[in-house]
Amino acid sequence: MGIADELIENNAAYAATFEPEPQGAPSRQVAIVACMDARLDPLPVLGLEVGQAHVIRNAGGIVSNDALRSLVISQRKLGTREVVIVQHTACGMMTITDEGFVEELREDVGEAPSWAPGAFGDLEQSVRDSVERVRSDPFLVDTAHVRGLIFDVQTGAVREVV
Ligand SMILES: [Zn+2]
Repeated sequence: MGIADELIENNAAYAATFEPEPQGAPSRQVAIVACMDARLDPLPVLGLEVGQAHVIRNAGGIVSNDALRSLVISQRKLGTREVVIVQHTACGMMTITDEGFVEELREDVGEAPSWAPGAFGDLEQSVRDSVERVRSDPFLVDTAHVRGLIFDVQTGAVREVV
């Protein structure tokens, strides 16, 4: 039995006490871009609850083209006005390189992917790069309120980079 069967069964208990959120737009008008890392749960890390923020996650917590797509929809259609980027210590994206991973895929599959993996060697620089991508995006409504944080997977504390 796959894990998905177990997860779907788990939902019965969740749905039994579920209280629906009154609206889909985030009540705190903030969008968070965070790494998908299993040790990082962005909402409680930042004192937020379901219904208060958009959470856009990917490998690295980088502001990729697809993250920008979600941010533009978040701001233009659902009213968010601030962006908080949360990357973290010991991120797996620092253990690979784009060139190496693409080569691995090319050898295994016979072709390179259309996307860039988005690996990085310098965590703080990666956060700065992602903040800059938000600041320079012409489609966003508000690019002035963007902050970049690093979550420490050992202490649970966040440190502001930008
Ligand atoms: Zn990560």
